[in-house]
Order: sequence, then structure tokens, then C-alpha cells
Amino acid sequence: MFDVIIAGGGPAGLEAALILGRARRRVLLCDTGEPRNAVTGVMHGFLSRDGLDPAELRRIAVDELGRYPTIELRPVAVAAARPASSGFTVSLADGSQETADRLILATGVVDELPDMPGLDELWGRAVFHCSYCDAFERSDQPLAVIDTAATAGFYALQLSGWSPDVVLCTNGPAEIPEEERAGLSARGIALREESIVRLESDGDGARIVFDDGPPLHRQAIFLRPPTRQRSDLAAQLGCNAFDDGSIEVNDFGQTTVPGVFAAGDMARRPAMPFPAAQAIHAASAGGIAAAVADMELAGRQLADQQAERTVS
Ligand SMILES: Cc1cc2nc3c(=O)[nH]c(=O)nc-3n(C[C@H](O)[C@H](O)[C@H](O)COP(=O)(O)OP(=O)(O)OC[C@H]3O[C@@H](n4cnc5c(N)ncnc54)[C@H](O)[C@@H]3O)c2cc1C
Repeated sequence: MFDVIIAGGGPAGLEAALILGRARRRVLLCDTGEPRNAVTGVMHGFLSRDGLDPAELRRIAVDELGRYPTIELRPVAVAAARPASSGFTVSLADGSQETADRLILATGVVDELPDMPGLDELWGRAVFHCSYCDAFERSDQPLAVIDTAATAGFYALQLSGWSPDVVLCTNGPAEIPEEERAGLSARGIALREESIVRLESDGDGARIVFDDGPPLHRQAIFLRPPTRQRSDLAAQLGCNAFDDGSIEVNDFGQTTVPGVFAAGDMARRPAMPFPAAQAIHAASAGGIAAAVADMELAGRQLADQQAERTVS
């Protein structure tokens, strides 16, 4: 029996394993090796690792985990999880079963890209979701926001902090109030409301082809696709989810199911309007969940010892 089984070996799961290994807990980390940022070769905004290939971050992390004898890594999916008489039983995709006192889910999310020809090929290369991750390198270059949400204008305004040349493309007529249109125009942000037919590669940037009017070259395009959970483990266990699919956690990374933690892009606290969606935040959340899981286990051991003393 393990103390903790961690599903998912991205930044959240790897950091959780590191903290638990350092606490000398018996840890099983299962990972299928499909991180959200697999499409990109560069990770920005991670203190001391700014600009590193995320695969290299993972390699360094796995190397570091090798120093801790109580951590076991397995390249296998956690297919199912359920409560057991004590703790949880998980079924792995190789047919084996394992048990643990605590579970940490760190299985990440999948970006649900809109159905737009050409987008898949450009995702992570010239089309990005996170301005903090990828806008700085395109400072003062032609940028676009593709967005239809009520917050599209705000996103375009925010991006204009990186470049004076931002075009907001709404992929069809937009319901943007006159006041907001004036605000965008005052900031030099053009609006293209024609439907988008496709995106094309254009040098190391992209070209947006509309159903009417000239195509638009942009060095980078920002859009925020909805996400879905990469695994249904949290649903299997009955963890509460918000409307956007994020798993609800409290400040300690605890889900609504006792003994089950969630960390990284898959989870958020109620006060957060959306998940933090950056690797360093995922790692931090994994570390918090691990420390709290360790303290829960220590608290239970103490209670068990007290109960034994009372009986004897
Ligand atoms: C195009 C793009 C660019 C990005 N650029 C940056 C950037 O520059 N800087 C930055 O900080 N962030 C960036 N991000 C965001 C970053 O990728 C995420 O914030 C980060 O990967 C979240 O870490 P995580 O551990 O929560 O999940 P992930 O990294 O997605 O890892 C989850 C892991 O769990 C595994 N898994 C899933 N289900 C199971 C299962 N059932 N059993 C076992 N394993 C399972 C997956 O295979 C995966 O390895 C970018 C994202 C994208 C899409």
C-alpha cells in the first residue's frame, strides 16, 4: 500500500511527488506523458527556467525524483479510482491495482480548439492562449485576438500593452457596445468582424483569411479555447466541478471528497475566475496538496497511536 498515489506527472504531479518523497512517504506517480504544452518547445515565466523546453523541465524533475527511494514512477494511466475500506483503490491501464491512503489528481486539461481550418497546425507555434507565456517575445509586432466572448475587448486592450498593433477578430458580427468600440479605437485596436475562413502559416507568423476583405498577417494570434478534463478520475470519485469543468479545491488543494486532492490546470479555488494555467502555479499547487496530504497522514497516525494507548 502506498501513502499517496499521484495521477499525472506534469509540473503539478512532479512537484507533489518531490515534496512527498522528501517527507519519506511511499509515493506512486503514474503518468501518460501527454502534458498540455506538448505542442510547444518553449516555456516562459517559470522562475530560473524561463525559456526552457518543457520536456527538459520534466527530464530535470524526473532526475531529481530519482534521489528519493520512496518514490516510484510508472509510465501508465490511472484508469479508475474508487474508495476502499481504508483509503483508495486505483486500477492502472496495465491491468494492475494499487491502494493508497490519499490520492492527488494532477491530470491536467485538454484545449478544445474551435473548428477553424489551419488552427491545429499553428497552435503553440503562432497561436497561443496565454499572453503572459508568449506575448513578450512578440512585443511591438502585429498581433491579433480571436475571441467572441463578452470579454474579447478587454483581452484585446490587455494585449495592447505588448504591441501598438492589435486587431480584434470576432469571427462574425460582434455585440460590442458603442462605448467599448470607442475605447478600442482610442487605443488603436482595429476590429475585424468578418467570418474567418481559415488560418495559414505565414513565415513564422500566421495569416487570417476572412470570407470578405483582405487577409491579415499577424506575427501571433491569441485565443482562449475552452478546456476539458484530460481524465475523468475526479468525476469517478464524485469530486465537485465548476461549470467550466474545473475541479473545485480549497486553499489546501482538497477536493470535496475527503482524501482526494487536485492540483494544476485541472483545478481551481472558488475565488479564482479561471485556473491559473501556468506551469509554476501548477507546481505550487501540487506542492501545497502534497504537504497537506502529508500532514493529514501524520495527524491520522497520531490519532491512531492515541487510540491504541487508550485501549491498552
Ligand atoms: C500552447 C501552450 C503554451 C504554453 N506555454 C506556457 C508557458 O510558456 N509557460 C507556462 O508556465 N505555461 C505554459 N502553458 C501552460 C502549461 O502547459 C500548463 O499550465 C501546465 O502544463 C499545467 O501543468 P499540470 O501539471 O497541471 O498538467 P499537465 O502539464 O498537462 O500534465 C498532466 C499530466 O497528466 C497525465 N495524465 C492525464 N491523465 C492521466 C491518467 N489518467 N493517468 C496518468 N497520467 C495522466 C498527462 O499525460 C500529463 O503528462 C502553455 C500551454 C499551452 C497549451
